[in-house]
Amino acid sequence: MTGDDAKLVIDSTRPHPARIYDWLLGGKDNYLVDQEMAQKLPPEARGNARRNRAFMHRAAAWLAGQGVDQYLDIGTGIPTQPNLHQIVQQIRPASRVVYADNDPIVLRHAEALLVSTPQGATDYIQADVRKPAEILRRAREVMDFDRPVALSLIALLHFITDDEDPYTITRNLVEALPSGSYLVLSHGTTDEHPELAAGVQNTYKQGQVPLRMRSRDEVLPFFEGLELVEPGLVTATHWYREEPAPKVELSGFYVGVARVP
Ligand code: SAH
Repeated sequence: MTGDDAKLVIDSTRPHPARIYDWLLGGKDNYLVDQEMAQKLPPEARGNARRNRAFMHRAAAWLAGQGVDQYLDIGTGIPTQPNLHQIVQQIRPASRVVYADNDPIVLRHAEALLVSTPQGATDYIQADVRKPAEILRRAREVMDFDRPVALSLIALLHFITDDEDPYTITRNLVEALPSGSYLVLSHGTTDEHPELAAGVQNTYKQGQVPLRMRSRDEVLPFFEGLELVEPGLVTATHWYREEPAPKVELSGFYVGVARVP
């Protein structure tokens, strides 16, 4: 097996972020190692995964309403209905959506991501966000980078450690986007629950899953050079556009949508 083939094999001996998240959302595409680890997380983790997902739904619908019809979603996760393309294609049937994830279990389930409207298109790239040039090269085969693209990095960058420089990775991706494009981002934080920080960090460490929760001050620089749209960088249950936030709860995620000037 070559190195690249090995990356396509599902490893059920160690927990994986996509499968832990699937378990937290009540999905079935996970293994005992994932369940055991997810159960060690604070009980809030399940509601927080749902609140993060609900933010994605609202942000995607808002972007489609703004006229965006091209989406590059990195760190897609195991398909959970509705997926991003289902939300945006309902509003803009001709939308093109390119998904990317580095976990072979997502590849295994990618068919569910590829059922597009006839007018639009969806594609799946097995790729790592730490290699942004490769993702961009392949996304350009499906999308027109002379027109606005929404780049979504949702619940992804806390898996990128400081030494891997998530800020430069994000900048490299954003710099490829023309004016009028958007960055949609959500990022795990323990700002709301400092008392849980050590426990969460330890659980992921024991599972050998690198995790770097970040504070608001550490998440803000991901939007450098961009124009955050209202309500700015807030926690997930505060991000509402047309209506006031119905119920402000803790969520463990900072979220924001920003426009490329
Ligand atoms: N964006 C989805 C899923 C979040 S779970 C949502 O918010 O609902 C995080 C996802 O990021 C997992 O599917 C995991 O496999 C993926 N991921 C983690 N590190 C990655 C990397 N380096 N490159 C690409 N994807 C990665």
